[in-house]
Amino acid sequence: MQADLRINARWVIPMTGDRAEALSHQAVFVKDGRILAIEDSQTTQRQAAETLDLANHALLPGYVNAHGHAAMSLFRGMADDLPLMTWLQEHIWPAEGQWVDHEFVRDGTRLAIAEMLKCGTTTFADMYFYPAAIAEAVSEAHIRNVCFTPILDFPTNFAQNADDYIRKALAVRDKYKHLPLLTFGLGPHAPYTVSDGPLRQVTTLADQLDMPVQIHLHETAFEVSQSLEQHGMRPTQRLADLGFMTERVSCVHMTQISDDDIAILQHSGASIVHCPESNLKLASGFCPSARLLNAGINVGLGTDGAASNNDLNIQGELKTAAMLAKAVAADASAVPASKALYMATMGSAKALGIDEQTGSIEAGKWADLQAVDLSQLAQQPVYDPVSQLVYTDSSRHTTHVWVAGKAVLAAGQLTTLDEDKLTFTARQWQEKIRGA
Ligand SMILES: [Zn+2]
Repeated sequence: MQADLRINARWVIPMTGDRAEALSHQAVFVKDGRILAIEDSQTTQRQAAETLDLANHALLPGYVNAHGHAAMSLFRGMADDLPLMTWLQEHIWPAEGQWVDHEFVRDGTRLAIAEMLKCGTTTFADMYFYPAAIAEAVSEAHIRNVCFTPILDFPTNFAQNADDYIRKALAVRDKYKHLPLLTFGLGPHAPYTVSDGPLRQVTTLADQLDMPVQIHLHETAFEVSQSLEQHGMRPTQRLADLGFMTERVSCVHMTQISDDDIAILQHSGASIVHCPESNLKLASGFCPSARLLNAGINVGLGTDGAASNNDLNIQGELKTAAMLAKAVAADASAVPASKALYMATMGSAKALGIDEQTGSIEAGKWADLQAVDLSQLAQQPVYDPVSQLVYTDSSRHTTHVWVAGKAVLAAGQLTTLDEDKLTFTARQWQEKIRGA
């Protein structure tokens, strides 16, 4: 069968096993937006309408950023160097109350998507208000998205109470579920902001409608001690007792882990989304990722929002994850480069329930791909392309990105978004927010 596109790459890292293997001189064929085949580029006879030669590049699956709040890019650098609750209660929540509406979310999400595409991310999970604005930005930019509409007990600009958030989450899903790049999920914010009734309702709805669920969980030691005081048990135990913990659920952060928590995670099949840089910046604690992986728990990777990171670069995040795991485990072999790359691709895709569609280069999956130029000075010499991708600053050399076979970054240039316009709009928001 003739392909639409043939990409000849010096290395292809398909991420099909549980470790990253770099195959030399391979050709990846794309047809109708999906991977058709991977074949030896020197011997294959297969034809394609278009061919791209990447003689110095590694071609790998696009990164999957499994947790974030994209529109918060417009709050980047607004309130740094503060602990989580001060940061949330005194800065972020008041700013959100004043500024967040459909237009803010559309503009902030566009900015975030541009940054993510330039660093090789082809899928991002988002937990933010006004999901219709997110759907608009996603469709326009042509990036894959898992959209977790937030659910809270208390009112925000977006909704009044848990029932209202849930109603709006289902309405946006009904309106946009036909769009192939979007998956809709439910995002109960955290155990300390959502009560038992809505948590039960989320579980029932997710089962009925086959939706993924994401929640911030065990972000800080304070959250755990407060739950012990108010509920007489740890948050994870409370969620398990409510029937909330299932394989549909991704638990973001998990910096506080007991043996009982691990048993619950193992039993339920829930995933963890590790956000090391956000945890470091807010001094929230350390997620023991190596211990979780050794216990057979799936771990994905996320940046969290740009207001607590402050970038959306998954390549930087996976380097931090690999480094931090070694420090936390006091073991230099903990989370090797190959495992870190797995977390940022297949681990994240599994956490979001979309690993049948993306996360690896396999025939039948969507062609969500990135090419990184490894001929740059800072990558020399290349003994091991996987090591270079994880431990050197390779994201700056991401030259091409495809989402469902469409080139959204070509020779370093965004094809669906206008960088100058995005920069101008971000500055306009800054003037408005700072001038207020
Ligand atoms: Zn978050």
